[in-house]
Amino acid sequence: MTINGAGVKTIGIIGAGQLGLMLAEEAHRLGARVVTLDPAADAPAARVADEHIVAAYDDRAALETLCRHSDVVTYEFENVPGEVLVPLVERYNIPQGFQPLYDSQDRLREKRNAVKHGLRTPRFAPADDRASLEAAVAEVGGYPCVFKTRTLGYDGHGQVVLHSAEDLSKVEPYFGTPGIVEEFVAFDFETSAIVVSDGRQTICFPVGRNIHREGILDLSIVPCEMSDALHDRIVAQSKRFMEACGYRGILAIEYFVRGEEIYFNEMAPRPHNSGHWTIEGCSTNQFRELARYLLGLPLEEPRLLAPTVMKNILGRDLEAAEAIAREAHADVYVHLYGKSECRPKRKMGHITFVKMTAGRFAEMWAKRFA
Ligand code: AMP
Repeated sequence: MTINGAGVKTIGIIGAGQLGLMLAEEAHRLGARVVTLDPAADAPAARVADEHIVAAYDDRAALETLCRHSDVVTYEFENVPGEVLVPLVERYNIPQGFQPLYDSQDRLREKRNAVKHGLRTPRFAPADDRASLEAAVAEVGGYPCVFKTRTLGYDGHGQVVLHSAEDLSKVEPYFGTPGIVEEFVAFDFETSAIVVSDGRQTICFPVGRNIHREGILDLSIVPCEMSDALHDRIVAQSKRFMEACGYRGILAIEYFVRGEEIYFNEMAPRPHNSGHWTIEGCSTNQFRELARYLLGLPLEEPRLLAPTVMKNILGRDLEAAEAIAREAHADVYVHLYGKSECRPKRKMGHITFVKMTAGRFAEMWAKRFA
């Protein structure tokens, strides 16, 4: 439904965190309205949404209201349950559908789906108890390997690196929960491809290098020091994968790269932290292209504008980030999400440094942050 007579479309977003915030900002630039739904009244996107519905993600009546007030609905996190979404997909315009969520909500299913559609993954096997754990370790080629819970893991939560049989006991607290064991990939670097497709056109953002700290993304560096051939293979295989799966909308795919080998790690059918640099470092950005897709506009091929570094700002970095914001440097873009509660490891914002190389960034950052 169109809320006013001027042809202004409304995008509904399930969730109102920082991804919803940045999507709402781009939607507004394209002339659209935004309705969000989130349990928190003061969630980041609620501050900019035209309408914000405060409700649990599984509150059916509230979700119906969101859909009725929107022309098109999307989600900003991957754990929206099928029982909630599927009945809505049948009746409202939720063009990304449930399939990419379903495929990404369970690490075992996710990896099987990746293999089925032509991607290479680390070797993997399911593990739910002591016997299956031992069998899985053998199946992936022994130690070192990684145990992960199959569902609801994020930022390294629910993971145990196993170096020897002595570490098996560390997995005991997870017995009874579905798990997976993966071959440990001694990667050269981590990267991610962000792909947007409307079924006719598929675009992929330039691929950079992602550096994690304590399991959380710390830096994205673009371009990444890799051969053009490797970069182009990552882009081509990511586009092919999205098309082969028949997904629409946005998909972020995380990879490990070792030598010339590219290993699928995980995916998320939503904008991704590793793509925040595109807002200023690229000719178009991940939120804008998702919004264009949702509004039925043609997609725009992205182009890197200049070497760019994105630094995530966790709670512990907030003061330093606020100081940088006050200094108002050229080509430095500070994004603070306005979260009311600050915790040391909570994502509070990010800073994008355009015209910045990894080397210069490391020098500058060491001086400012412990
Ligand atoms: P994930 O939640 O699967 O993205 O894992 C969080 C981080 O742990 C990754 O970004 C990697 O740095 C590391 N990691 C996860 N799985 C593996 C693996 N199979 N081999 C090596 N490192 C891994």
